[in-house]
Amino acid sequence: MTTTAPRLLQVLRSTTITPRMIRVTLGGDELAGFPGEGPDRRIKMFFPVEGQDRPAIPRASTGGPVWPAGEARPTIRTYTVRRFDPAAGELDVDFVVHTGYGPAAAWAQSAEPGSWVGVSEPGGRWVPDPAAAFHVVIGDESALPAVATVLEAVPPDVPALALLEVADAGEEQDLPGKADVTWVHRGNRPAGEPLVEAVRAATLPEGEGQAWLAGESAAVKDIRAHLLNERGLGRRAVYATGYWRAR
Ligand SMILES: Cc1cc2nc3c(=O)[nH]c(=O)nc-3n(C[C@H](O)[C@H](O)[C@H](O)COP(=O)(O)OP(=O)(O)OC[C@H]3O[C@@H](n4cnc5c(N)ncnc54)[C@H](O)[C@@H]3O)c2cc1C
Repeated sequence: MTTTAPRLLQVLRSTTITPRMIRVTLGGDELAGFPGEGPDRRIKMFFPVEGQDRPAIPRASTGGPVWPAGEARPTIRTYTVRRFDPAAGELDVDFVVHTGYGPAAAWAQSAEPGSWVGVSEPGGRWVPDPAAAFHVVIGDESALPAVATVLEAVPPDVPALALLEVADAGEEQDLPGKADVTWVHRGNRPAGEPLVEAVRAATLPEGEGQAWLAGESAAVKDIRAHLLNERGLGRRAVYATGYWRAR
């Protein structure tokens, strides 16, 4: 099997969306032909490590990826394609600048025009079910970029609600679509706790709905079980992904 090599892209600009969310806009010749359109597209990002100004990128081969000899391997994290504009040659990725940092959040904070990063081919399987009686979309800050693309994709003629946890009111964002959005604020509470409470307290519309959810892994597991066991949603109707793990 031939794998596709990651693309080496460069930062065009970065923008502060909220105090803890940075949008990094990427571009470059290697963005040509990027299949980044659609809801919930996930990419692996390859960040340079200390001493590098561009990350080592594996070459595609029939036997799998081949890494350049003698170069330190990059830090790899998963992010969401928030926006891909083939005509403009631009790819937006929104980074949470979270407490505890980590190399990806630190890279986003220091990214400048010209900074290099690697980006894999996008994956992701979620599609809205046209027969769903309603859509419920649930997540924390790390999921907001994907939540926005999911809300862009849900049919406008069925009820949609979004239950979203952020640190405080300053982290709320304008979202596309017509969903009824409930924001809950974490404050000093453990991540995921207010979101689990909000989902348990929510009134869901009648009928067989579809749920998309992502965020802190333990909270996602808890909410998924609640939707299946206490709300009676079908297993195939609940698309859940743990995005990060609180330690
Ligand atoms: C499919 C998918 C899509 C994702 N899309 C996005 C996206 O578009 N934007 C985005 O910001 N994140 C997204 N994430 C989450 C992101 O991959 C993780 O948050 C990742 O751990 C960040 O890497 P890091 O190097 O900054 O921190 P790490 O080195 O991985 O972690 C360092 C410390 O920070 C803590 N931590 C990590 N993430 C968070 C967080 N969000 N909030 C609070 N504490 C945290 C960890 O528990 C750890 O203690 C996505 C994850 C997946 C699986």
